[in-house]
Amino acid sequence: MEKYQQKTIKHEISCVGIGLHTGNKISMTLKPADVNTGIVFHRTDPAGQDAYIPAHHDYVVDTRMCTCIGNKDGVKVATIEHLMAAIHAMGINNMLIDIDGPETPVMDGSAVPFVFLLECAGTKVQSAPLKAIKILKPVTYKNGDKELTLQPSEKGLKMHFAIDFPASVIGHQEADLDLTASNFKNMFSRARTFGFLQDIEMLRSIGLARGGSLDNAILVNDNTIMNKDGLRYSNEFVRHKMLDAVGDLYMSGYTLIGEFSGSRSGHTDTNALLTALFADESNYEIVDMASYYSSLTEENDDDKEFRLECA
Ligand SMILES: [Zn+2]
Repeated sequence: MEKYQQKTIKHEISCVGIGLHTGNKISMTLKPADVNTGIVFHRTDPAGQDAYIPAHHDYVVDTRMCTCIGNKDGVKVATIEHLMAAIHAMGINNMLIDIDGPETPVMDGSAVPFVFLLECAGTKVQSAPLKAIKILKPVTYKNGDKELTLQPSEKGLKMHFAIDFPASVIGHQEADLDLTASNFKNMFSRARTFGFLQDIEMLRSIGLARGGSLDNAILVNDNTIMNKDGLRYSNEFVRHKMLDAVGDLYMSGYTLIGEFSGSRSGHTDTNALLTALFADESNYEIVDMASYYSSLTEENDDDKEFRLECA
């Protein structure tokens, strides 16, 4: 069944944009890749020394303001989470990403330009079974008032996110997502990253947010949104945090069968949750999606027969 086969993109496709933190112009090309490759970044610029870096939690080297991966030679690619969210939601398993700088282009600060790129590239079904991580036991990570959990569930990846910010334009927001390509595309992909005016100077002093502008981020000043067109969703902030989590969870190397809940958490916490998940092999199982879901259907059929007998 095609649904449970691995997928790559049909054609390569490119885009150009600036890096949110470096402010540099970056070219990126998404390319089809063989089965079981996973998602791999490839630095094509001289400074990147032709490096390949898998988009995998083992390669995460910095999570201060974004998710940054690096290899043992110190070659890095930063701000991969919005692209990873689109790749996860669109169900792409194998892809090579050529990039000529240290950061993915920020585009408009959301994942929708990447969803559009992937749709234009098309999907190619491959001849290898699709696998997923099935959560077997609850796994929790807490850090102060931040808390994340993964819980077992029968089907798919269900997600919940909650945030609390003192700024009244944000305040308390919650959102739920049953992760499918259409749910993500229609309800979450357009949510932009956000920042606070009072943090910008500090971020720029440590070399971050240099490419940030009102064209690629929501900017909050005390209780005012500074973007003249306002918000894309009334709760755009929590939707963006959900989008980040969709991307960061895909750093596990697979999609998940389970329930995720995040409260006030960020990239560092989601990465720590994955570390906690993989620390104990009894927490999870790598399942072949086709046989896992067919076993569920068989069980349901058994139930039906049993009920008929009783009647
Ligand atoms: Zn983000």
